[in-house]
Amino acid sequence: MKRLRIRITGVVQGVGFRPFVYGFARARGLAGFVRNSSAGVELEVEGEGIDSFLEAFRSGAPPLSDIVTLETEEIPLEGDREFAILASRDDGESTCIPPDVGTCGDCLGEMKDPADRRFGYPFINCTNCGPRYSITRKVPYDRPNTTMAAFEMCPDCRREYDDPTDRRFHAQPNACDVCGPRTEFVHDDTRLFGKAAVEAAVALLRSGGTVAVKGIGGYHLAVDAENADAVSRLRERKRRSNKAFALMAPDVDCVRRFAVVSDEEEALLLSMQKPVVLLRRRENQSLPEAVAPGVPDLGFMLPYSPLHALLFPGRSSPRLLVMTSGNLSEEPVVKENGAAREKLSQLADAFLHHDREIFMRVDDSVVRRFGNQTIFIRRSRGYVPSVIPLGEDGPQVLACGADLKNTFCLTSGEAAVVSQHIGDMENHETLEFFEETLENLKAVYRITPAAMAHDLHPRYFSTRWALEQNGVEKHGIQHHYAHVGSVMAEAGLKDAVIGVALDGSGYGGDGTVWGGEFLVARRNGFERRAHFRAVPMPGGEAAARNPWQMALSYLADLHGEAAMAAAENSGMTERVGRTAVENVLKIRKNRSLSPLTSGAGRLFESVSSLLGVRDVNTFEGEAAMALEAEAAQGEGGTYPYDIHGSDPAEISFSGAVAALLKDAGSGVSCGRAAARFHNTVSAAVVEMVRRLHNETGIADVVLTGGVFQNRYLLARVIPGLSALGLRPHINARVPANDAGISLGQAFLLRSLL
Ligand code: ZN
Ligand code: ZN
Ligand code: FE
Repeated sequence: MKRLRIRITGVVQGVGFRPFVYGFARARGLAGFVRNSSAGVELEVEGEGIDSFLEAFRSGAPPLSDIVTLETEEIPLEGDREFAILASRDDGESTCIPPDVGTCGDCLGEMKDPADRRFGYPFINCTNCGPRYSITRKVPYDRPNTTMAAFEMCPDCRREYDDPTDRRFHAQPNACDVCGPRTEFVHDDTRLFGKAAVEAAVALLRSGGTVAVKGIGGYHLAVDAENADAVSRLRERKRRSNKAFALMAPDVDCVRRFAVVSDEEEALLLSMQKPVVLLRRRENQSLPEAVAPGVPDLGFMLPYSPLHALLFPGRSSPRLLVMTSGNLSEEPVVKENGAAREKLSQLADAFLHHDREIFMRVDDSVVRRFGNQTIFIRRSRGYVPSVIPLGEDGPQVLACGADLKNTFCLTSGEAAVVSQHIGDMENHETLEFFEETLENLKAVYRITPAAMAHDLHPRYFSTRWALEQNGVEKHGIQHHYAHVGSVMAEAGLKDAVIGVALDGSGYGGDGTVWGGEFLVARRNGFERRAHFRAVPMPGGEAAARNPWQMALSYLADLHGEAAMAAAENSGMTERVGRTAVENVLKIRKNRSLSPLTSGAGRLFESVSSLLGVRDVNTFEGEAAMALEAEAAQGEGGTYPYDIHGSDPAEISFSGAVAALLKDAGSGVSCGRAAARFHNTVSAAVVEMVRRLHNETGIADVVLTGGVFQNRYLLARVIPGLSALGLRPHINARVPANDAGISLGQAFLLRSLL
C-alpha cells in the first residue's frame, strides 16, 4: 500500500490523457486524482500494485499523447476511496498545446449516421481529434482558454463532457448542432445556415463556382479540380504563378485514380496530421493542366475537418477539390470572417464561413517520401507546436529565421518549438503574423528569451526586426551555417561536421551571395572550405526570378564577347528577345548591378533555361524543380567539372555547361542532358566532401539547403558518401529549405552562450 505523486510533461493535454488515467486507475481499484497543470498532468495514486500500474501506464497511453518526462515521488497515504478528475491548476510552469488533429474514424462514422445526434454536424470532435493549437488562446488547454469559450454546452454535450467513460470526456471543443458553432453560406444576397449552407456550397462547387471555405487554420479557396474552366479561372484570379494547387480527395481510392500511392504514402495521407502529400501523378489521368502546370507531382490531402468531409457527400459532389490557401498573393492565409469578405471577394464567388474563431492561423503542412523517410517541405498544421527534442539542456532563446518561408524557433530546456509557416517576410501582414505567433508561443511555453539569433543579411525584415528589439543579447548567424546547424540539432551531432549547404542565396558577409557552400562546421564556428565558383548575377535579385538572365551570365562566363552568338545558337535570343539579351550582357559587366553568386540554385536554374526547360521562375525553385523532373532515370553519364585552389576551394561547372550545350546542340535529349548535369553536381559534391574528409578526418556529413529537396541529387549523393564510409545526414524534422533556418540558428546560438 503506498501513494505516489506523478508529474508528467509532454503532449498530455487535450489528447484524452485524464480519462485514460481515470479509467486505468479505476480498473485497478486505485484511489487518488488526476488534473491538468500548466506543466502537463499531475496525478496522485494510492493503493496496491502501483509499480505494475506505472509500467502498464506508458505502453497504454492514448495515441495522440507523447510523454516527455515522468517523475514519481512517494508521499504519505491520505486514505482516498475514489479516483477523481480535479480542476486544472495553474502552477506557473510551461506545457504543450497539442497540434490540430484530423477528424477520427469514430467521429466520421457518427457524422454519417442518420441516427446519431450529430448526423451531418460539421464540428464534431472528441478527445482523439479536432482543433487544438488553432483555437487555444493560452494554457492550460481547457475550454475557457479556447475560442470555444463562446459556446455554452447544451445538457447533452455537458453530460458527455462530464462523463469519464465517454469518448468526449473533457474534449474541450465538444459541441453539437444545438449548442455549437454553425456554418454560414454567403452568395450575393443569399445567406444560409447549417446543413443548407453546406448543401449550397457543394452545389456551387459542382457548377464550377469558387467557394472560400473556412477550415481549421484559415480559409481555402475551393473549386472542382476536374473542371478545367473553374481551375483556370481560380489560377487567373489568384495570381499568375504556376505553383501547383493542393488537392483534397474524399479517400485514398480517389487519390489513386490520379496518383501513384505507396503504402507509406497512404499511411501519411491517413495519419492524424493529415498533411498534403506530394505524389507522382499517373500517366493517363485527366486532370486539367492548370491544377499543377508542368510538374510530375500532385499534392493530395484527405479531409481533415468534418466540414471538409461534408464537401464530398457522394455522387452529387465533385470527387476532387482544389484547396488552395485563401490569401492575397503573398499575404498570410485569411482566418477571420471579416477579413475573408474584405480580401477574398475578388477571388471567390461565395463563402462558407463558420462562427468558431480561429485564434492561431496555421497553413497545411506539405511532406513527401524519400527512400524510407518522410521529408518536410512545409511543417505546419498537425505538427506545430509539437516540440523538437534537442537532447540537452540549454538557455531560452529566440531565433528569428530567414525571410523566405520564414519560421521562428523558441527553445526552453531540452525543447525546441519551431513555429508554423509564417511566409515570406515582405509585407506588413506577414510581419504582424510573425509577431502575434511569437507572442502566443512565448506565453504558452512561458519563454523569455535570454538571447536572440538572426540572419546576417542587413536587408532581411527578420534581421531588422531582431535589431530593433531592446534588452536582449543579439547574434547574427551566417545563413548556410544555420542550415547546417538545423541538421546538427535534429541529429544530435555535437562534434564537427562537413556541412554541404546548397540553396538559392544567402548573405555571405564577403560581398558575394553564397549558396553552394562546403563548411567545416562546429558548434562554436565554421570555416568555409569550398564553394561553387561565383559568377555575376546580372540584375541581382531579378536574376533569381529570371533564370535566363543567369543562364546568359554562364554563357558570358564561357564565351566572353562571343556570348551573344552563343545565346543565339542556344535559342535564347529567339525566346527572350535580342534587346533583352544585349541589356543583360551589358548589365553583367557592372559589378554594382551584378553581384557575384555561388548559389547552387542559380546554377540549376541556368541549366534549366539553357536546356529550354524554364526561362522564368513564377515561384521560388520552379525552374530547378522542372529540370529535376526532366532528368531521365537510368542515365549514368557525367560532364567535366573542376576543383581548384584551397580554403576555400572553388568548384567550377563551366566545363559542364559547355558540354551540355554541345549535347543539346547535337541532338542529345533534354532528359539525358538534365540527368548528366545532375550526375555531375552529385559527383562534384561527393568528391569535394571526400577531399575535406581526407584533410579533416570528419565523417559526419550534413546535406541541407533548398536544393537538397531535389531527390535525384539526394539519391546519388547519399550512396556516394556512404560508399566512402561517411555518414550522410539530411533534415528529417524541419524542411531543408529556409523554413529550417530558425532551428539551426537556435541550436548554434545556444552553443555560443
Ligand atoms: Zn473524434
Ligand atoms: Zn450540444
Ligand atoms: Fe537558404
